[in-house]
Amino acid sequence: AVRVRFAPSPTGFLHLGGLRTALYNYIFAKKYQGSFILRLEDTDQTRLVPGAAENIEDMLEWAGIPPDESPRRGGPAGPYQQSQRLALYAQATEALLRSGAAYPCFCSPQRLELLKKEALRSYQTPRYDNRCRNLSQAQVAQKLATDPKPAIRFRLEEEAPGFQDLVYGWNQHEVASVEGDPVIMKSDGFPTYHLACVVDDHHMGISHVLRGSEWLVSTSKHLLLYQALGWQPPRFAHLPLVLNKDGHKLSKRQGDIFLEHFMAAGFLPDALLDIITNCGSGFAENQMGRTLPELITQFDLSRITCHSALLDLEKLPEFNRLHLRRLVSSDAQRRQLVRKLQALVEETFGSQLRDRAVLDPAYLERIILLRQGHVCRLQDLVSPLYSYLWTRPTVGREQLGAISEKVDKIAERVLGLLERSGASFTQDMLNRELKKLSESLEGTKHSEVMRLLRVALSGQPDPQWLR
Ligand code: GLU
Repeated sequence: AVRVRFAPSPTGFLHLGGLRTALYNYIFAKKYQGSFILRLEDTDQTRLVPGAAENIEDMLEWAGIPPDESPRRGGPAGPYQQSQRLALYAQATEALLRSGAAYPCFCSPQRLELLKKEALRSYQTPRYDNRCRNLSQAQVAQKLATDPKPAIRFRLEEEAPGFQDLVYGWNQHEVASVEGDPVIMKSDGFPTYHLACVVDDHHMGISHVLRGSEWLVSTSKHLLLYQALGWQPPRFAHLPLVLNKDGHKLSKRQGDIFLEHFMAAGFLPDALLDIITNCGSGFAENQMGRTLPELITQFDLSRITCHSALLDLEKLPEFNRLHLRRLVSSDAQRRQLVRKLQALVEETFGSQLRDRAVLDPAYLERIILLRQGHVCRLQDLVSPLYSYLWTRPTVGREQLGAISEKVDKIAERVLGLLERSGASFTQDMLNRELKKLSESLEGTKHSEVMRLLRVALSGQPDPQWLR
C-alpha cells in the first residue's frame, strides 16, 4: 500500500514551499488509494516556534488536503510527533551500538568548535575527524565513568550505496569523507534528523518519500542507516526547488509566502494549489483552473522533471479569478459566497451602510453574478472602488460641474425618468431613454451625460472601468 508523509519541522508556520511538498504527497497518496501522513519533526527543541504545529495542521485542512494520520487525528502508526517517540530512537541506537555501527563520542563542545574553526580558516568544510571511532572498550568504560551521557555517532561506510531516485535518476554520494561520522543521538536523549527520519519512515511503513531536493545528498546517509539496521528502505522521489520568478529560492524571509497570509487576503485554497502545480511539472500539460480531483487524475510521478519550478505570484489573482468564477457557477457554493460577502460588507462598512437592504442575500447575489469575471477576489467587492455598492457616494457639485454645465438640468430629467419607470426599469430601456434624453438637450453629447451619471452614482473621480 502507498503510504507517504509530509514531515515538516514546527520551526515556522506553513508556507508555499511546504504546501507544495505536502500537496504532491497528498496527490500521490490519493491517486493510489494510499495514506497521507503528517509527522512533526520536533526533535530540535531549541528551534520550536509556538503555534507552528497547530498552524501547519490548520493550514493543511484549510487548503483542502487534510492528512489521514496526524498528531491531531491520530492513527495506527502514532504518535506523530517525534518528541513522543524517543523510545524508538533509543532502541535503534542500542541496536547500532551493539553491532558496532555506532559509537559514543566524548569530544567536548570546545574541541568540536575548534575543529570547525580550523576548517573554516583554511576554507574547508568542517568535518568531524572521527576521533572517538577507535576507542577501546576499556577507554570507553573509563570515559563513561565521568561522562555517562555521551553523544552517539554513526560509523559511515566509505562506500555509500547508490539509489534510483524516481525524479533525479541514479544517485550516489560520497558522504563519509565530507562531514565525518554524524551524530545520530544527542547527549540529551533526542535523536538528530537522520536517525529519527529513518526510524520513523520504517516504523510508519512509509512506501515512498517525496521531499525537497535539498535532502537528495542526505539520502545516502539514510540508506547506510537502513542497511545497518537491516531494514528495507522506501523509494525516494526528490522534488525540484521552487524558486520565485527571478530565480531566487522561495524563502520565508520574503514575508508573504505564509499560507495564513493568503487565507487572510481572501485567496481561495484551490487557486493556490492550482498555481503551485502549474509552475512545476508532473502533468502532461499545464493548464490553469484545475481542481484538486483533476490534479489527482492527471498527476503522473514520472513526469516530474528536475527543473526548478518558477513561481510567479503576480499571476495568483488571475488564478483566483478563474476559481471564483467556478464557485459562482455552483448554486451551493454561490450561497456560501453570498454569506461571506455579507460578512465582509458588514465588517468593512458597518454603520456607514446606506441602507441595511444592501445586506439582503438577493442583492448580494446579483452583485456577485454581475461582477464575477471582473474581480479576482470576493474581497475586491468591498474595496474603495466598489464602495458605492454599499454606501452613499459623496460627490461635490464642483466635481460634477466640471463635467457638464447642465448638471441641474440633466439631474432633473434623469430623476423624472426614474420616477416615471418606478422600480421596473431594465438596462435596455434605460439605455434607450437616456439616449433620447441626451438628444433632447441641445448641444450636449450623450457621452457627457453618461460620464456625469457614472461619477455621480459611483463617487469615483474617473470610473472608466464602469463602462
Ligand atoms: N524535517 C525535514 C524538513 O523540515 C523533513 C525532511 C524529510 O522529508 O525527510 O524538511
